[in-house]
Amino acid sequence: MPDNESQTDSPQTDSANTGPATSEPLAFQAEVSRLLDIVANALYSNRDIFLRELISNGADACDRLRYLALTQPELLSGAAELAVELRPNAAAKQLEIVDSGVGMTRDELIENLGTIAHSGSAKFLSQLGDKKTEVDLIGQFGVGFYSAFMVADKVEVFSRRAGEQHGWRWESDGRSGFTVEETTEAPARGTRILLHLKEDAGDYAEPLRLRHIVKTYSDHISVPVKLSPGEGEDGSEPETLNSAGALWARPKSEVTEEQYQQFYHDVAHAFDQPWQTLHFKAEGMIEYSGLLFIPGTRPLDLFDPSRRGGVKLYVKRVFITDDCTEVVPTWLRFLRGVVDSEDLPLNVSRELLQNNPVLAKIRQGLTKRVLSDLEKKAEKEPEAYVTFWENFGPVLKEGLYEDSGHDDTLLKLARFKSTAPDLGDAGWTTLADYLTRMPEEQEAIYILAGDDLEQLVRSPQLEGFRAKGIEVLLLTDPIDEFWTVRVGTYRDKPFRSVTRAGGELDKVGEAESAEDADEKEDGGLETLLAMLRVSLQGKVKDVRASKRLTDSPVCLVADEGDIDLHLARLLKQHQRLDDTPTRILELNPKHPLVAALSETAKTAAAGAGENIEEVGLLLLDQARILEGEPPLDPAAFSRRLAGLVAKGLN
Ligand code: ADP
Ligand code: MG
Repeated sequence: MPDNESQTDSPQTDSANTGPATSEPLAFQAEVSRLLDIVANALYSNRDIFLRELISNGADACDRLRYLALTQPELLSGAAELAVELRPNAAAKQLEIVDSGVGMTRDELIENLGTIAHSGSAKFLSQLGDKKTEVDLIGQFGVGFYSAFMVADKVEVFSRRAGEQHGWRWESDGRSGFTVEETTEAPARGTRILLHLKEDAGDYAEPLRLRHIVKTYSDHISVPVKLSPGEGEDGSEPETLNSAGALWARPKSEVTEEQYQQFYHDVAHAFDQPWQTLHFKAEGMIEYSGLLFIPGTRPLDLFDPSRRGGVKLYVKRVFITDDCTEVVPTWLRFLRGVVDSEDLPLNVSRELLQNNPVLAKIRQGLTKRVLSDLEKKAEKEPEAYVTFWENFGPVLKEGLYEDSGHDDTLLKLARFKSTAPDLGDAGWTTLADYLTRMPEEQEAIYILAGDDLEQLVRSPQLEGFRAKGIEVLLLTDPIDEFWTVRVGTYRDKPFRSVTRAGGELDKVGEAESAEDADEKEDGGLETLLAMLRVSLQGKVKDVRASKRLTDSPVCLVADEGDIDLHLARLLKQHQRLDDTPTRILELNPKHPLVAALSETAKTAAAGAGENIEEVGLLLLDQARILEGEPPLDPAAFSRRLAGLVAKGLN
């Protein structure tokens, strides 16, 4: 009995022709067991989709064989046309899904039907809770083949790889692992999946039901999906259920909304509705057609480096690859769908796809098309556009860093959170609108970057800007630190971080009142600053009176020319930066604590120096905590704080 819990990363992998003649029990990868558990017990929302998944796999197998046959035509000889056939047997409560595609070797059966291929999905599954919404999310990865266990309590897979002699039988009850053995019952080429339907799933062996499901979910499949006559209905030929033919190659007017949606659900492995559908044909120097979707929700693997490309590449209706990163730039990786080129050679190899000039032109064309579509949507339906931006803005902004060719458009498409009150569109603003709100004398677009919006809103760095009514954009995506530097300016206004030192605030807003200026003359402050400079030497670059603070006593700022605080932290997390430059500590002269300290410094009473040094260290740690950094020495910090509070209570 195989152990369900044990991880079987590399099941025995004898070469295909030397497998044992007897049935061999193997264990599922741990994540598969978890998935099967969910599939069989929790994922009941729509059982019909098992058929979509299995038909989709059969069609994929046909696609892959057609591709291989471009260079090895003999692979197609012998067996039937490329198609997927459903063979129901209501009396026996069985359903077979048969394809004449590429088939699987023994090793492929073990690998494909015993593990979860994408590391991202496996990781996601291992973290998955039991909440209904989370469970439904796994549809995003395509429960794929394993969805068969929603309707079957036993599944047998008979398969023969095109061009191979041996056929193999895989069998499982979806619980205790699976077995693989050699068989003579495999199709001449391709795969036959035999489902032993569950007690309550017998209707999946009824032709009427199957016809309906294929129409609903698989009409767009490009190979014929056939239904063979059920037991007892002898004589008649299998009936083709779907429209077949490549959906993207049809004129728009002949494609229904339902077909688009089906197609999207299939290519994107998604349950949601597409946010946008782009169906087009480009003619001229380079000819290609495309059917692309922008998903309505964020795919889970959007930031997973091991994710596969979401856009399939076809050449003259022949599937070439679904793992080509050259079709769309990485910063449009949320796109799902198909691109079909008329100009690439059919026998295009993977190597040929790299740096291919035709593909580069297609990518360019697609990029333009998608961006101009987004522009239109942003203009006409700003509210709907916000949904898109919240899902994919962080990815789109990568284009501002990686690609310099689309700055104007991308800056127009970008949306920002800001300190301005009462922004419409769910609190997002455009850069153009920011410019219209800013005072004439303001020279820069002020930004503050951090990990989290709530934290940014409370940042002491903003106090002075807020007091003067100067709007600051709040940036929370890691990429923000990078593109703002690369792009530099928007309509000649530089992006400038408010965490930088310098007399920025003097230049804008109302001039300081004479009263404020007087306050600064107060001798105690200068003495205090001088004392702190000495006692905090090495720990900070300088200690200064702050103009940016109105409520908080202290904050840290980066010196002009030094790397920004948040960026330094980001780089350090990724081991890209060894030494963070020391910062400038700013004190708020108006804060009672600082005022009291200044007073102490002025009188320079006995023991005052020591006291100020202690408080200085506390203030520095406080400023660090406000920045999201730990105190320099947490134990000492705690001791000092406790000491001070005790003194205060006495
Ligand atoms: P996906 O289709 O997203 O890769 P599935 O779980 O549906 O995930 O299938 C896993 C893998 O099993 C496929 O990638 C394919 O390699 C293989 N496979 C499944 N069904 C078939 C089939 N009918 N013919 C050939 N290979 C298949
Ligand atoms: Mg599949």
